[in-house]
Amino acid sequence: MPEDADTLLTSQTFRTLVVLTIAAMMPAGCRRASHQPPPPILLVTFDTLRADHCSAYGYGRPTTPTLERLARKGVLFETAYAPMATTTPSHATMLTGLLPREHGLVRNGEALPPGQRILAEVLELAGYRTAAFVSSFALDHRFGLARGFETYDDDFGPAMVARTEPWEGHRVEQAFDRTADKTCRRALDWLGAQGYLGPPVPGRRPFFLWVHFFDPHDPYRPPEAHAALFPPLGPKPSELDRQIAHYDGEIHFADAELGRLLDELDHFGLLAQTMTIVAGDHGEGLMQHGHMGHGLMIYEEAVRVPLVVHWPRALPGPRRVAGPVQLLDITPTVLDLLGKPLDTLGHARSLAPILRGRDSPDPAREVFLQRRRYETETVGTVHVKGEKTAVRQGRWKYIEAPEEGTHELYDLAADPHELLNLYGPSVAEASLLAGKLQAWRQSVAPPPVLSVSEEDARRLRSLGYVQ
Ligand SMILES: [Zn+2]
Repeated sequence: MPEDADTLLTSQTFRTLVVLTIAAMMPAGCRRASHQPPPPILLVTFDTLRADHCSAYGYGRPTTPTLERLARKGVLFETAYAPMATTTPSHATMLTGLLPREHGLVRNGEALPPGQRILAEVLELAGYRTAAFVSSFALDHRFGLARGFETYDDDFGPAMVARTEPWEGHRVEQAFDRTADKTCRRALDWLGAQGYLGPPVPGRRPFFLWVHFFDPHDPYRPPEAHAALFPPLGPKPSELDRQIAHYDGEIHFADAELGRLLDELDHFGLLAQTMTIVAGDHGEGLMQHGHMGHGLMIYEEAVRVPLVVHWPRALPGPRRVAGPVQLLDITPTVLDLLGKPLDTLGHARSLAPILRGRDSPDPAREVFLQRRRYETETVGTVHVKGEKTAVRQGRWKYIEAPEEGTHELYDLAADPHELLNLYGPSVAEASLLAGKLQAWRQSVAPPPVLSVSEEDARRLRSLGYVQ
């Protein structure tokens, strides 16, 4: 057993009550607890992975056998939403439990405001060993998501071809990204160096490991072995067919590397006891709405992502959960599963009751979506201006971009691909959802979900749980 029993999670505030609770459970000086020790936690994020291109979600090509394997013993959320189709804000949402409008990082190139805590900080304070291995400059440590990670590996080595253009205002002095095999290798090296891939060591602290794979992001250039699995469809494949086939090959490649990581954990008896969460950070447009890529649109293909939780030692499974959930929910869910539910959630929800089979998602829960603000721009063939926001509730989804003069209403039950705009100024569903959207935009951001004062941290350390 690699876990260290003397580490505990606290609630979001680490405030007096929680600290006293911990103290009551574990008297000062006691280095072992009698209750279940905290588990290792593995968070794997796939960049640019739309749910409907995963075989685990019913896609016709076998793109994600590893995700299927996890789902066979875990919980798969069939309707999981990213808050934005943009890498850094979406990851910030996963790690803070706040929507981009709330945590304040609303576009790539920005940094998470200093006042916002992320999950790794809380877990580190609670005694976890923390490490992240990311694969894109969009998650460079300068953007604020390295906080709380003892190891934050964003070193991709020198660029094959020097990048002359800045990226979102930042000079990129090394390679912009790296492939999943390299990232996986580094993560495994870290696990090995820390002694996790070996015989159990009494008193070993649990780990929180975040691994980010970038491969499904364009350009789609899968390794040949993976490309060969998915030839373009049709007797006369178009360039789009070829692009989609290569996108699928990239998904398969990254999924295979996830498999390699899980195999190693399994080999050393760690997988069943590890709380493993796998998610996409956003989807990808493949011309469903006249656009390749992501960032500009908040249609379903851009924001519906896979989300699978695998923790067979502690959760009943397998199950597929239909109702809407959000990446926003990951942080409160992790803390709740560790026994410390949050009392400040904003729009987030803990999925722990659902994962334990005691509840199901509220079908009427509002899902708010947004796109960053643009000055007047033409990106490819798409004209964008201002902000775009949306809300989904039940079967209805309403999208508006006032500065573009667009309003859209879709019945997702009848029209899951959002092809028939039902908007009209007198349509009741549009008016209702427009009102909810306006109220959300005008609402004051809720307090941070994760907030740990220096005093709280000092008290935690004084209890002797953090080395
Ligand atoms: Zn991304």
